[in-house]
Amino acid sequence: MARIVMKFGGTSVADLDRIRTVAGRVKREVEAGNQVAVVVSAMAGATNQLVRWCQDLSPLHDAREYDTVVATGEQVTIGLLAIALQAVGVEARSWQGWQVPILTDSAHGKARVEGIDGSELVRRMEAGQVPVVAGFQGVEPERNRVTTLGRGGSDLSAVALAAALKADRCDIYTDVDGIYTTDPRIVPRARKLERVSYEEMLELASVGAKVLQTRSVELAMKQRVRVQVLSSFEDKPGSLVVDEDEIVEQPLVSGIAYSRDDAKVTLRRVPDRPGVAARVFDALAGANVNVDMIVQNVGADGTTDMTFTVGKADLARAQDVLGRVREELGYEALLADPEVAKISVVGIGMRSHAGVATTMFRALAEKGINIQVISTSEIKVSVLVGAEYTELAVRALHTAYGLDGPAG
Ligand code: ASP
Ligand code: MG
Repeated sequence: MARIVMKFGGTSVADLDRIRTVAGRVKREVEAGNQVAVVVSAMAGATNQLVRWCQDLSPLHDAREYDTVVATGEQVTIGLLAIALQAVGVEARSWQGWQVPILTDSAHGKARVEGIDGSELVRRMEAGQVPVVAGFQGVEPERNRVTTLGRGGSDLSAVALAAALKADRCDIYTDVDGIYTTDPRIVPRARKLERVSYEEMLELASVGAKVLQTRSVELAMKQRVRVQVLSSFEDKPGSLVVDEDEIVEQPLVSGIAYSRDDAKVTLRRVPDRPGVAARVFDALAGANVNVDMIVQNVGADGTTDMTFTVGKADLARAQDVLGRVREELGYEALLADPEVAKISVVGIGMRSHAGVATTMFRALAEKGINIQVISTSEIKVSVLVGAEYTELAVRALHTAYGLDGPAG
């Protein structure tokens, strides 16, 4: 007997037929004698629609009300799946985040999980019931208002729940059957990775391989939760996210990731004196805007240009906040460009090998792709390019690093 958390993403619960299929999969695990808790996302597209409604009414909407709206998607699917399970003879009950409870901080729209009291769920599971838990949802410390964990947050819900329930496995069922060297929709010859380390997965997730949400991987690594990514449509083994030690042959580059979720912001002619960067990023942090790549030029004539990326969804907020400190900082102009893509090559093998970046720059140059910003970490090299070059860049790099699998 094992205790398993099964998580189903939006495409896996996109309509009633698929919800019936999910119920069948859950039933199989239960009948195999396992204790099962299920976490679901909203139906595919539902959260996007809810987010759009908020944005259309007001780009700077109240984040508490945003959570009130977007948390509804998962309320629908937990109820439907519980009904579908009961219909096939599996005892099941739905749970919203506040009912578990899944306690978070009060950063609405991107709350952090602070703790989960899994005792009641465990009691139910031991008695043979399947809890169907809403992904994405939590409740703030006062326990008065619903919070959400950020887009893609139901992966985090699943991993956090697996840790709290001391589950043997966290199976993430999705519309792909594993983790690939890159997005197979862009590169049909992308290969499935049998195993990938937490650290590589973290880089791949954070740079836009949309299979697993970043924070869920961070948490899995910290809590050593065994995560398996597999297809909800086919019966095939998936990819395992494991400890680095379990990977015998460490490739130089394991994968190419891309993200079109960022926007580039440039502050022109910022005074070049101590405290300016601190003030800029302090203001952004104060408004809960996450900053990713940052570059600053060597100062000339007492000023410098500062370029960084923020999530596209945070761009309006970033512009607003930076506009308000313009007088104080005395920069000349704020330029925003949402038409960018970040392309990254990732691999633990990079730690012990040189020349990875050169291969990347050469491959991009051969395609005539201009690099706007570069950043590196121990196991990753990322570049920012014009959004229109995304596919071309990913394909060129996949080939350049010898990742292409057999054709067909
Ligand atoms: N429904 C939420 C979203 O689309 C959470 C999730 O699916 O992971 O972001
Ligand atoms: Mg997802």
